[in-house]
Amino acid sequence: MVKKQNHILMKYYSTNKQASDATLEEAVVRGLAGDKGLYMPREIKPLPASFYDEIENLSFQEIACRVADAFFGEDVPADVLKQIVYDTLSFDAPVVKVKDNIYSLELFHGPTLAFKDVGGRFMARLLGYFIRKEGKKQVNVLVATSGDTGSAVANGFLGVEGIHVYVLYPKGKVSEIQEKQFTTLGRNITAIEVDGTFDDCQALVKNAFMDEELKAHMQLTSANSINVARFLPQAFYYFYAYAQMKKLGKADNLVICVPSGNFGNITAGLFGKRMGLPVKRFIAANNRNDIFYQYLKTGVYTPRPSIATIANAMDVGDPSNFARILDLYGGSHEAISSEISGETYTDEQIRETVQKAYEEIGYLLDPHGACGYRALAEDLKPGETGVFLETAHPAKFLQTVEAIIGTKVNIPEKLQAFMSGTKQSVPMSKDFASFKAYLMKN
Ligand SMILES: *Cc1c(COP(=O)(O)O)cnc(C)c1O
Repeated sequence: MVKKQNHILMKYYSTNKQASDATLEEAVVRGLAGDKGLYMPREIKPLPASFYDEIENLSFQEIACRVADAFFGEDVPADVLKQIVYDTLSFDAPVVKVKDNIYSLELFHGPTLAFKDVGGRFMARLLGYFIRKEGKKQVNVLVATSGDTGSAVANGFLGVEGIHVYVLYPKGKVSEIQEKQFTTLGRNITAIEVDGTFDDCQALVKNAFMDEELKAHMQLTSANSINVARFLPQAFYYFYAYAQMKKLGKADNLVICVPSGNFGNITAGLFGKRMGLPVKRFIAANNRNDIFYQYLKTGVYTPRPSIATIANAMDVGDPSNFARILDLYGGSHEAISSEISGETYTDEQIRETVQKAYEEIGYLLDPHGACGYRALAEDLKPGETGVFLETAHPAKFLQTVEAIIGTKVNIPEKLQAFMSGTKQSVPMSKDFASFKAYLMKN
């Protein structure tokens, strides 16, 4: 009998180049590489011209299967991968015309009404598959959230056997609706309310991964966009957006604008471009936490403490995925700034944008999408068509949005269901010692 040829698994290297290569499974289970770098696939496979030729005739799920196969095809059997993709994408991501040459890619049609549902649901299913396959002991997922990650990850992982999720969030810095989405679930989800900022939450998670004693005590992984299983699947909807624009005859000179915080979302889009997706250029829209914008302007990356804004999911002072972008472009500021430009907006400008878009064109933006929309409205050149990512439903930021437009916002049923739950959280100080002591008791 001829033995079936062994699969060559995709290798993942660390952006810090000190740790040895990992398999997908190792990269997903570890989250962060041993040298604190972020994992990158050794190879980014271009998709064939024939795929792009007929992309407009394919469904979201069909497109996503092709993209998923390029990333994960060597590591996950085709039927399993297809099932994961179809289970993940149980909702649409329509492109909606907002005004001439500006379109909104609505990424808020999933269970928690933000784009993070895609990565959160995919990662939960992929990790679940690896755990079942290996008969691993319990895996503990640590996730720091500035708002939407916690809800997407918690809901994606809810009830997945063999996985416990700890959501760390900054006390008083997420909206009530966001908070309810991950503090009311119970079961395998624990919410940890940190007396600090998002950066403090992220630091606690990073420290936990570096702590040998803790790692010997429990298997830990991260569901932040540092995890390849979270950030790579976000490429799916860039391809689908292109397909929809092509169907409309609007795909030439396409500019995609991404409201950015930790830069996982836009990085997935940049991977798409590397795979041949015909996007002319990207815009990263920042709020006042404009570390990336300053980098584009000066060539110097200077992280600084985050400040609270009304686009709170973008309040990040040291975006993790910057390391991936830098690596993707060989560290070249020139290469990066030739494909990505940036914008930065104050809360006042965000408010003004939400209000004007609502009054003048009847489209209700959330504060994050507002940054994306405004950057396109200001930067688009003649002959270009823009798509911005509407990263969350405006009702997730109810008080903010209602105060801006002066009328009530309809709350989708999915969101109302969360509101009736009872908040349960574990209070935590921002120093690592107390967090570690808490985990060691579990
Ligand atoms: C997380 C989030 C962002 C920022 O995405 P990154 O991948 O961190 O850049 C933008 N908008 C909303 C609504 C979010 O939840």
